[in-house]
Amino acid sequence: KTFAELNLIAPLQRALADENYETPTPIQAQTIPVALEGRDVLGSAQTGTGKTAAFSLPILNQLGRTNRKAVSKRPHALILAPTRELAVQIGDSIATYGRHLRLRHVLVYGGVSQRDQVRKLKRGAHILIATPGRLLDLMNQGHIELNQLECFVLDEADRMLDMGFLPDLKRIIRELPEKRQSLFFSATLPPKIIELSQSLLVEPATVDV
Ligand code: AMP
Repeated sequence: KTFAELNLIAPLQRALADENYETPTPIQAQTIPVALEGRDVLGSAQTGTGKTAAFSLPILNQLGRTNRKAVSKRPHALILAPTRELAVQIGDSIATYGRHLRLRHVLVYGGVSQRDQVRKLKRGAHILIATPGRLLDLMNQGHIELNQLECFVLDEADRMLDMGFLPDLKRIIRELPEKRQSLFFSATLPPKIIELSQSLLVEPATVDV
């Protein structure tokens, strides 16, 4: 399969051509078609396999298909990552793949002042990329509302649990609309991760590379 066969919208195909991407990696080839159908995905994949594009391209495709006004405080997609470094990397990928789309993304992570993040949130974000603790802080202060969310991505779920984020995750998940698409990625699938995935996903397609 080639990227052209995946039926992504033209601005995404152009961005992939800019990056000289020709062939989808196995996780992309398996994830993108089912995610484009709107299905939930349980993906087991390590970093370096191309999993960032596997979830970023379907989100950008979904949000880029229609004109969207930037709505303050109410993102349409949320990507949760365990660490600031990973959140920054995902933000870079979203910027690269979304370069021909008019979608705003905002990053929120801990360890730095909230001020700049709050200022950016006030200007509105279609896509929010966050670490769990800072996201909850900003939600509790009324800076973010998740009730307009269409897509939810949990990246490196096993690492998140190892870092003790399960209580934060459960609080965040409680605020998500029931009708949404969820994409769940983890390098390993121990019982606690399967349990978490079952609380989040509806009839997911399972992708294992
Ligand atoms: P990831 O596993 O998402 O961290 O991606 C690993 C690296 O592979 C990143 O530097 C991507 O830019 C690159 N990459 C992802 N998908 C493709 C692809 N289909 N063709 C070429 N490079 C890719």
